[in-house]
Amino acid sequence: MPALVDRFGRTHTYLRISVTDRCNLRCLYCMPEEGMVFMEQDKLLSYAQILEVAAAAAKFGIRKFRITGGEPLVRPNLDELVAGLSALPGIEDISLTTNGILLAPQARKLKEAGLKRVNISLDTLDAARFKFIARRGDLNRVLEGVQAAAEAGLTPIKLNCVLLKGVNEDEIETFLKLSTDQPLHVRFIEYMPIGHEDAGWRNHYLPLSKVLEEARRLGYAVHSVEGPQGSGPSDDYRIEGGVGTFGLIHPISDQFCKNCNRLRLTADGNLKPCLYWVDELNVKQALGSEEAMERLFLRAMDIKPENHEMAALLAGEKLTHVPTERRMSQIGG
Ligand code: SAM
Ligand code: SF4
Repeated sequence: MPALVDRFGRTHTYLRISVTDRCNLRCLYCMPEEGMVFMEQDKLLSYAQILEVAAAAAKFGIRKFRITGGEPLVRPNLDELVAGLSALPGIEDISLTTNGILLAPQARKLKEAGLKRVNISLDTLDAARFKFIARRGDLNRVLEGVQAAAEAGLTPIKLNCVLLKGVNEDEIETFLKLSTDQPLHVRFIEYMPIGHEDAGWRNHYLPLSKVLEEARRLGYAVHSVEGPQGSGPSDDYRIEGGVGTFGLIHPISDQFCKNCNRLRLTADGNLKPCLYWVDELNVKQALGSEEAMERLFLRAMDIKPENHEMAALLAGEKLTHVPTERRMSQIGG
């Protein structure tokens, strides 16, 4: 089987698999507090169907899977999917992105099923602010999840922190300290307009140059480093003497598309070549036919765009194509 190489010479080795669009939180940058319409349960791919798509992907040279959502841990028996994915030939890495709320009781079981590591979303270490950003849930549960992941060996643990102007930018120092004191990998992420490009995004978007400015202001000696396993689009750094690292994921202020190696599978069975644009291919029509599934992956390579245009959107310029209407929770990040 040929490798998945697109029109711009990028080889694809990474598939992000969303298992649900539902979530036990309502993070303000991801979905509205009320009125979100969720996919009907019978429209979701079953685990067997996801494994069929994943097996085709593995034949094309996909080596890494990331399970995401919505909140993936609200879907029952996720360890069964992990076990199925880890039994596929050639798979080198299976990871999970989670808000951590339901992680503590499941960490060990997931590890035993073959999960290698977790990214846990954590935008604040302040309990009241957590309620403001996530609108539901409890910070302590997330911190227990981080602890349980470390104890279960789901490492390296990355903490995903979306920086929001006027909301949590005053915690950059706290997160930088966390990356020096503990073997944690803090990844600051720029707020992206996915499925929404409203005033909230424009008001709260913060370019990540702010993080390096803050590190300089604090007098830290910061060294560029090779990030922990699977760093992807992140620029990684270590503060001198620190045990962890921090990384910057800045799709808007410094686009990373030229190295993009990823495809996305939505929970309702669509293959998305790019997070940003509307284009997607329905995998349900290809289920049951190896040939149709192969054609679908090759078609994804044909239609994969060169880049997103979030910076152009911020600058008020006209876009060349149509952005997706899916919210981040309906794609998987
Ligand atoms: N529920 C899980 C979680 O929060 O980790 C997994 C799904 S969530 C959609 C995946 C990642 O996308 C999270 O790290 C989240 O912080 C990030 N995210 C969601 N909306 C975003 C946005 N508008 N801009 C940047 N990152 C976003
Ligand atoms: Fe849920 Fe994750 Fe979106 Fe927050 S970022 S609402 S935890 S899917």
